[in-house]
Amino acid sequence: MWSFETDPDFQEKLDWMATFIGDEIEPLDYLFPKDETYNVNNSALMSILAPLKDRVREAGLWACHLPPSLGGGGWGQLKLALMNELLGRSFFAPTVVGTAAPDTGNAEILAHFGNQAQKDEFLKPLLDGDIVSCFSMTEPQGGADPKVFTCQATRSGSEWVLNGEKWFASNARWSEFLIVMAVTDPEVTIYRGASMFLIPTKTPGVEFVRNSGMAFEEAAHGAHAYLRFNDVRLSDNDLLGNAGDAFKIAQTRLGGGRVHHAMRTVGLAKRAFEAICERVQSRTTQGDVLGRKQMVQAEVADLWMEIEQFRLLVLQTAWKIDKFNDYKVVRQDIAAAKVLSERVMVSAASKAIHLHGALGISNEMPFGEWLLWGYALGLADGPSEVHQVTVAKEALGSSASIEELFPSGHIPSGARAMRKKYAKELGLPGHRRGWVT
Ligand SMILES: Cc1cc2nc3c(=O)[nH]c(=O)nc-3n(C[C@H](O)[C@H](O)[C@H](O)COP(=O)(O)OP(=O)(O)OC[C@H]3O[C@@H](n4cnc5c(N)ncnc54)[C@H](O)[C@@H]3O)c2cc1C
Repeated sequence: MWSFETDPDFQEKLDWMATFIGDEIEPLDYLFPKDETYNVNNSALMSILAPLKDRVREAGLWACHLPPSLGGGGWGQLKLALMNELLGRSFFAPTVVGTAAPDTGNAEILAHFGNQAQKDEFLKPLLDGDIVSCFSMTEPQGGADPKVFTCQATRSGSEWVLNGEKWFASNARWSEFLIVMAVTDPEVTIYRGASMFLIPTKTPGVEFVRNSGMAFEEAAHGAHAYLRFNDVRLSDNDLLGNAGDAFKIAQTRLGGGRVHHAMRTVGLAKRAFEAICERVQSRTTQGDVLGRKQMVQAEVADLWMEIEQFRLLVLQTAWKIDKFNDYKVVRQDIAAAKVLSERVMVSAASKAIHLHGALGISNEMPFGEWLLWGYALGLADGPSEVHQVTVAKEALGSSASIEELFPSGHIPSGARAMRKKYAKELGLPGHRRGWVT
């Protein structure tokens, strides 16, 4: 059964969300830089966000990614995709609705792998949006290849002692706790020799070397921490899951995290598209609006097609996750959506810059920031190339090799086989004709 329709009841919720985001949340961009979203110390922002969060709760849409057992609506991924499409229009919206990364994935980790004491202390405030958390895996000497990770926790009696560095740990500066991947058994492959620790951020020995920001951001707003661990003393109770489980745990959050980024990217790309449409219908040059120039129309058409193709892939991926309930089965689709997130966002932001002229490239419009965000989507949770490899491996894995010299579909070989099969009908018994021989 194929259907591209939304239930009327659910459409009402989407309509409420669209109006709420458009009227109340998108305009917050005029007041605060995007990384302030997570700044729990910004009392002005927090006092603006609190009543907005209450309205989301009253509408029954708080933490819409979660099952009811964890306080969400249990909508499933397809409906979440439609909601995330709206939430992606604003960097503040996921926080207001309780779906902000990396807290969403970290809550999933805590729910699945945390012990009771960890859950009691951190899970509820995290789900309620009262605290912020950080997931820290990347190291300064390499992010895309965990085999070069050196941050290590060694045994000392009943304790673990953590030493090493982590890099680009988003929101660490505002976080209540860090989820840190560390080598615990250097004798085996990192995929079995790394463990995940939950470390309260204020633990003695956790040092902030500095907070890096994205290009364009003022240094004070840098949200991505360079962390150093100096003899941080931990116990077995600080482990998430068992020693050696780090990659199993990381995968729990990364599959979902990547597709949720893709869902939100549909929304931000659409926002760029809407800005383009408004501008090219309003701006006149050489006696006509830009939108009547065919080369401009080609750009508009291409972007519309790129976004629609991407959106359909994302929605289908979400539908498959609901259907199969197993991220491994949908690995190829998620990897493809991850790669396209970067491409579509970069394309949408670039066209928005270009078609707005000098205004587009200026700091009076948000497109430069969106362009950089597009490139960030090609890095966060792993670079695009790594995910392209996943797409290719899955595709090649389902395609068999052949023994013959010429490939399937080789015209002379196919013609020869068909002539043999239909020799009688073709009146060719015993005949050898032309190049088929
Ligand atoms: C906005 C943002 C937020 C982030 N937040 C976090 C966070 O909260 N926690 C965290 O742990 N990390 C975080 N990261 C880090 C992110 O996971 C890494 O940037 C990513 O894994 C790439 O690692 P790297 O930056 O060290 O690049 P490198 O590993 O040095 O790779 C550099 C480039 O080399 C190429 N490349 C790499 N591997 C391959 C390959 N196998 N084949 C072909 N080409 C390849 C790609 O072009 C890649 O971009 C964040 C990154 C960004 C941009």
